[in-house]
Amino acid sequence: MSNRSIGLDDALLAYLLEHGVREAPLLAELRRETAALPMARMQISPEQGAFMGLLVELLAPRRCLEIGVFTGYSALAVALRLPTDGLITACDINDDWTQIARRYWQRAGVAEKIHLHLGPANDTLDALLRDGAADTYDFAFIDADKENYETYYEKSLALLRPGGLLIADNVLWSGRVLDNGDHEASTKALRAFNRARIRDERVSIAMAPIADGLTLMRKR
Ligand code: SAH
Ligand code: CA
Repeated sequence: MSNRSIGLDDALLAYLLEHGVREAPLLAELRRETAALPMARMQISPEQGAFMGLLVELLAPRRCLEIGVFTGYSALAVALRLPTDGLITACDINDDWTQIARRYWQRAGVAEKIHLHLGPANDTLDALLRDGAADTYDFAFIDADKENYETYYEKSLALLRPGGLLIADNVLWSGRVLDNGDHEASTKALRAFNRARIRDERVSIAMAPIADGLTLMRKR
């Protein structure tokens, strides 16, 4: 027995996936197709998809924001659990990767629920705020370039309604947040982001050691 989060070796992770994750066939197929890409490691893990999917079932969000689409796995995991009138505003800059995403969203019958904005996410978020969307989103997932997490967070927080849920991905960054010899911009940005969030009284917070670390925050 243990009262701390346990590390998962390959065998225990396989057990968790077998007993704790029901991955939809199209999500599994998307994972297999994405595995052939050099950047496949960016995709969220199946257990993270299951966790986020369950949260979406519980929250029944009508307006969702996703910053960082890649080949569309997290957006599809969320879209499959949305209420009938639920929509996702999805942001990415890469046309090739999001072509794959669109193909799977079509096949899953959720394409009309996902509005993809191709271009720098900061521009898309600014446009949403300018159009009066502040305080209207129920759920936001931040998973794009780490150097911009702070601005993505501020803009997403403004877009969220009080009570809305914001999730930031990769907050443990394979443990590199602890490595004092690591001076990469992405690592430094995540360290600063984490330091700022634990003092940020605008949100309730829980960091979960799922996959590469998720910080869950509820707008107060
Ligand atoms: N959530 C995805 C993984 C996202 S990977 C999944 O479930 O698979 C990070 C993504 O952020 C990449 O697709 C990259 O193109 C995108 N990205 C990087 N810089 C960006 C920017 N400035 N604006 C929007 N998207 C960006
Ligand atoms: Ca990620």
